[in-house]
Amino acid sequence: MNIILLGPPGVGKGTVAVKVSKELKIPHIATGDMLRSNVAQKTKLGLEAKHYMDKGLLVPDGVVIKMVKERLKNNDCKNGFILDGFPRTIKQADEISAIANIGKVLNLQANDSIIIKRLNRRRVCSKCGFVYHLDYIKPKNKEICDKCGGHLYQREDDKPEAIKERLKVYREKTAPLIEYYQNKGIIINVDASGTPEEEFNLVIEVINNKSSNACANK
Ligand code: ADP
Ligand code: ZN
Repeated sequence: MNIILLGPPGVGKGTVAVKVSKELKIPHIATGDMLRSNVAQKTKLGLEAKHYMDKGLLVPDGVVIKMVKERLKNNDCKNGFILDGFPRTIKQADEISAIANIGKVLNLQANDSIIIKRLNRRRVCSKCGFVYHLDYIKPKNKEICDKCGGHLYQREDDKPEAIKERLKVYREKTAPLIEYYQNKGIIINVDASGTPEEEFNLVIEVINNKSSNACANK
């Protein structure tokens, strides 16, 4: 099945998507990760995207849509995929529904104070990309990756000013997708205010539930 994870920044899309990807053996496609890897490698796309990302603004639709379309052509997407961080605009949503059948959209929900706390305490490994949280997914040493020994850093856009901007952008550009997918009848709300494990269990339950409106919809 093709799945979309929707929800504000910091709601745990990435963390839960990594686990779902393992559980269902479908690729996790995270546009934020793809963009950051382009920035790190200083590709043309990366250079174009960087200044939007650092400020917490969206990278232009054309750039991101092209990147995702290329990725979905890959053979590993044949049996399904989980999209994390895409679509983020109505335009992106229209483009994806033109090329793929979306089975379920999971709308992860948590309030702003939880989100801000999570983002501010997030640390990322500069070498392997693993994402830690200083309270929930603690590294042994707060500056060193347990998995590979890489240096842990705070994303530029996880600093307080950029967080505010990202939440604003989310409300303006991405939140309208909730209604967009409600109209298609494929969206399910999931409470994402608990621990990563609780969040994962709820998500898997919703994915495995055959009828798409049977649960969690308020
Ligand atoms: P989060 O979900 O925590 O905000 P992501 O890693 O998904 O973070 O995205 C980081 C940044 O990458 C965004 O703030 C934005 O600049 C850019 N980005 C990621 N996905 C998209 C997208 N679908 N459209 C436009 N910009 C995107
Ligand atoms: Zn690492």
